[in-house]
Amino acid sequence: MALEIMHVDMDAFFAAVEQLDNPALVGQPVIVGGINLDNRGVVSTASYEARQYGVHSAMPITEAKRLCPHGIYLPGRGSRYQEISTQIFSILLSYTPCLEKISIDEAFLDLSGCHRLFGDSIEIGHQIKMVIQQKLGLIASIGLSINKFLAKLASDLDKPDGFMVIKEEEINQVLEPLPIGKLWGVGRKTEEILNDLGINTIGKLKKLNQDELVAIFGKMGLQLYQLARGLDERSVEPEYAAKSISHEETFAVSVSNKNEIMACLMEMSAKVARRLRQKDLRGSTVFIKIRYDDFTTLTRRITLGSSTNSTDTIYQTGKRLLEKEPLLTRPVRLLGIGIGNFSKGAQTQLSLFSNKLKEYDLNKAIDRIKDRYGERGIIRARNLER
Ligand SMILES: [Mg+2]
Repeated sequence: MALEIMHVDMDAFFAAVEQLDNPALVGQPVIVGGINLDNRGVVSTASYEARQYGVHSAMPITEAKRLCPHGIYLPGRGSRYQEISTQIFSILLSYTPCLEKISIDEAFLDLSGCHRLFGDSIEIGHQIKMVIQQKLGLIASIGLSINKFLAKLASDLDKPDGFMVIKEEEINQVLEPLPIGKLWGVGRKTEEILNDLGINTIGKLKKLNQDELVAIFGKMGLQLYQLARGLDERSVEPEYAAKSISHEETFAVSVSNKNEIMACLMEMSAKVARRLRQKDLRGSTVFIKIRYDDFTTLTRRITLGSSTNSTDTIYQTGKRLLEKEPLLTRPVRLLGIGIGNFSKGAQTQLSLFSNKLKEYDLNKAIDRIKDRYGERGIIRARNLER
């Protein structure tokens, strides 16, 4: 598996912005704090100088003041942080649209589509770190690995000013000595239960097999089992996918027959297009998702010159994406297609092209039959074999 997943996280973001805007604060213990729901002040961000005194985020301000009485306490300037955040994300988006925003200063990027333009993942990581520093004067920590869990762990382990890569062959060596609290989803309670069993590191956790973990923690046990081995199947979910309509299908048995895959693609394209038409939407970014036997998951996307809600256009675009690299070289476990980048209403321009108008009428007619007779009321010939 390749190093395609990057986690970018700004160091002590709010405090760093305050230090950027007021150089007198550089090197000082800066503590940015807000008021939480109980009307009690809590620390949002502490500069690394303040962290040396034990101050950390989510700590009550009163406690921070006890630990670091000479700290510089600031109320925070949300709109300024938002402004800088927008600049950070526009830098990140200039590398790939496949970006999942986690918070105001943190994101996952899937780099699998951008090597031809920007080089390998490590080069891209260095570029992004440098550009953020040069353009904004702020430091980002970067983690690179084969999945989200490991990428986030990497950026976290090397903070501040971090740049860490976890390669597939390094997973055990990196994970095993770490405290179990480093695993996603392990809170204080899980940690206590594990500690009672004499388990305090990820390495020791690996002595429990899957059944034992499930017996203790239920479904969470399975997640612990996988994360302890560096396994994480979650893909980077970009915003355009969140604001999109898509359909995916997991096959009971992995499929290699191309006709079968294309028939499935057509069926899913029809469902996606129909939902678009029901909502009176048209989209212009078509994307596909494919997962292979070894759980490698790829997404590819393309933005069309004009927006569409046509089954055939969506299908043809998906087919093109599958055939371009080509992606259908191994058995497929999961296939998905979707569309985003919406605009509302029918495109009047369509009427200029009589064949497209005909297709539009055809789609509408199919929708009417399906509305009346159900999903199986009419089926494209291509899908009959399914
Ligand atoms: Mg941060």
